[in-house]
Amino acid sequence: MSSAPAQHDAPTDAPLDAVPADAEEVYAFTELGLRPELLGALSALGYEEPTPIQREAIPPLLDGRDLLGQAATGTGKTAAFALPLLNRMSAHRDGGDPVALVLVPTRELAVQVSEAFHRYGKDLGARVLPIYGGQPIGRQLRALDSGVDVVVATPGRALDHIARGTLRLGGLATVVLDEADEMLDMGFAEDIEAILEHAPAERQTVLFSATMPSRIDGMARQHLREPVRIEIGREQTVAGEAPRVRQSAYIVTRAHKPAALGRVLDVESPTAAIVFCRSREEVDRLTETMNGRGYRSEALHGGMSQEQRDRVMGRLRAGTADLLVATDVAARGLDVEQLTHVVNYDVPSAPESYVHRIGRVGRAGREGVAITLAEPREHRMLKTIERVTGQRITIDKIPTVADMRTRRLELTQGALRESLLEDDLDPFRVIVETLTDEFDLMEVALAAVKLAHEVTSPGSDDEEEIPQAPVRGPREGRPEAGGRGGDRRGGGRPRSGGGNTVQVFVGLGRRAGVRPQDLVGAITGETGIRGRDIGSIEIADRFSLVEVPQGVADEVISGLRSSTIKGRKATVRRDRGGEGR
Ligand code: AMP
Repeated sequence: MSSAPAQHDAPTDAPLDAVPADAEEVYAFTELGLRPELLGALSALGYEEPTPIQREAIPPLLDGRDLLGQAATGTGKTAAFALPLLNRMSAHRDGGDPVALVLVPTRELAVQVSEAFHRYGKDLGARVLPIYGGQPIGRQLRALDSGVDVVVATPGRALDHIARGTLRLGGLATVVLDEADEMLDMGFAEDIEAILEHAPAERQTVLFSATMPSRIDGMARQHLREPVRIEIGREQTVAGEAPRVRQSAYIVTRAHKPAALGRVLDVESPTAAIVFCRSREEVDRLTETMNGRGYRSEALHGGMSQEQRDRVMGRLRAGTADLLVATDVAARGLDVEQLTHVVNYDVPSAPESYVHRIGRVGRAGREGVAITLAEPREHRMLKTIERVTGQRITIDKIPTVADMRTRRLELTQGALRESLLEDDLDPFRVIVETLTDEFDLMEVALAAVKLAHEVTSPGSDDEEEIPQAPVRGPREGRPEAGGRGGDRRGGGRPRSGGGNTVQVFVGLGRRAGVRPQDLVGAITGETGIRGRDIGSIEIADRFSLVEVPQGVADEVISGLRSSTIKGRKATVRRDRGGEGR
């Protein structure tokens, strides 16, 4: 494609108003050399432009280069490796061994990544199979047998299938190591080495990692050939450009985001706010949801005509809309004087994008507030943004039901004070006088306040607490350097709930080279249980004992039984207190 960057799409992508897009260039997926089936899928998903990591990674990956990428969740890294991989695949293959293998640390990620492959590759008929422990092996065997194109697997289970001869790597053109630092932290280093030994030497290898400790560097040097290096969040140039606005973030799961947004808006009471979403689809969905919750919201995205956009902007300026829900592309060059709040409904895909977004407020000495709703896994990206901008983003607690009640009472009180100061209340005197024949004056006032409160601040219908999601990621809360799993596991207790725990016996110990992180890795990699839920780990010469919550003991046992630890199968059962050891 040779089109100029600013003209890539329909004319609807022209900047709004006459304000030039400040230092933001528009790129299009069409410029990256992707095939039409993929472009169609991206457009159907409402992706308007590639994220920075996609812009940088897709062309060299299409050329077959190896790649070493430093990027956290939230940057769009999954599409950055999935799209080129799908692009190079022959469409609608029959049977056959996989052409690509993606290794991921957890089963949650295996599912997410294979869903992403499905979404992008459905018009190519791509057959994608997630394989992880804890899932019936029969289904995986049948799927592998009938032929797949892409396997997305946790290392332990992948190795199991390789050993059984059910996963054959001879036809691999590409291997992706996703979240490599987490895989190493979880003790999968040896499994990964063993897997790579089975892959053809002539292959493309892609490694993504949120951090680049020396172990990752070593792994890259050993397995990648002249890789292209990409780092998202390296640019220090944006520091100092960032406007001085109050910046805070809330950690919340996706399911609770609309309710959290509503609550934050209620507490903040913005004059006008812009809410940024990643895709057109999300803009439409959120606009509808927020309108349903009583916020006057308008959608703005690249799929709308100039006339529609002008109408939306008119309503925002006139104050008949409070909330503009927009994609980055559509909001480019937008300058609305009334804007007081910028909300990132998702963490932006790069620090630069964050800076551009929050630059919509805090202009020309105006005060601004920037709020980010981050999913637990996106916490690291927030840290990257803080580092690059040199500004703090405070993690706040989502307002509770009690906070909301207090806030609503304050609003009612404010409305009454205003009325006392400004309104002509005489016509109502007769009501008060008549009622005070029968009731106390205070009681009359209270009843009037109650009625006023119900009108000025109706309670929202979701009066449930929104859970503050815990920050996720195995490295969180640990020192970056020297945080060896062995130390931290000493006398630890499961941190969740503090309920009953049981000891699980694993028939491999120090002599087999087992370390606490190997056990944590095997459990979290092959089950849905998080490292923080695992309690103390005791490693003896010939066996280990792992303390886990009673309720998940069976899942842990079956997960450990179906995987390998240090490449070996172990006896795993509930500990019976020393009997038979
Ligand atoms: P990831 O960093 O790969 O976990 O992706 C984060 C999220 O961004 C996922 O929900 C993707 O669906 C979404 N996403 C990835 N690329 C784009 C894009 N170019 N435009 C809009 N959304 C995207």
